[in-house]
Amino acid sequence: MMEKQNQIEQNVAQVRGELVKAALRAGRNPEEITLIAATKTQTSETIRAAIAAGISVCGENRVQELTDHLEVSAYEGAEIHFIGHLQTNKVRQVVGEVDLIQSVDSIRLLDAIDKQAQKRELVQDILLEVNIGHEENKGGVLPEDLPNLVAYTEELAHIRLRGLMCIPPADSAEDDLRGFFAQTRQLFVDTRNKIGNNNPNIDCLSMGMSGDYPLAIEEGATMVRVGTALFGNRPPIR
Ligand SMILES: *Cc1c(COP(=O)(O)O)cnc(C)c1O
Repeated sequence: MMEKQNQIEQNVAQVRGELVKAALRAGRNPEEITLIAATKTQTSETIRAAIAAGISVCGENRVQELTDHLEVSAYEGAEIHFIGHLQTNKVRQVVGEVDLIQSVDSIRLLDAIDKQAQKRELVQDILLEVNIGHEENKGGVLPEDLPNLVAYTEELAHIRLRGLMCIPPADSAEDDLRGFFAQTRQLFVDTRNKIGNNNPNIDCLSMGMSGDYPLAIEEGATMVRVGTALFGNRPPIR
């Protein structure tokens, strides 16, 4: 138990160190970058250990895991972000339970979130997920469809658009990754300035995982979602 706490503390320190170095390389303030712990498959105990080690945001992929951890108050002391694919029929279990839903990618889902947020009398913060690699069978809105979706969010009183998220193709070479991150960053700037009428609420650019978060930071990420580098390898899912 103690050993695990120490290991996570070491990993958090290691990742934060890399985060700071990447920010400084890019001439950025490291404090404007949030380290999100991607906690899928982890136990409530591990989540508590991560928060004790200084993690301030947990990113959850699956509604069932989110619900289980909420039931035992595992996230106490941290924000919760939903970062996985979200089905409209599970929106009820997520809206109002998390601080930010990062993976919104359709009008249908926007409508469902808005409706549930209205029911709960709150405004739900969201990011739009961009399928920056134009991959088939992958979540996210295609870059060319993004402006429509951004415009649609402005019609919804119970949704607040905070920015964009992306997951580039898994097998990308470094140069390609850099390109995908740079393209997403450009979409983010366009979203904030042109489409969003200089909307100051649009301040989150979530990109970068264990294998590529330094690169994402160099290309402008304000949030990185890191699992393996904090918790070690996960057992394969399904
Ligand atoms: C699992 C996951 C991560 C973290 O992946 P690692 O490679 O383990 O760091 C980040 N974002 C999303 C959406 C994930 O599902």
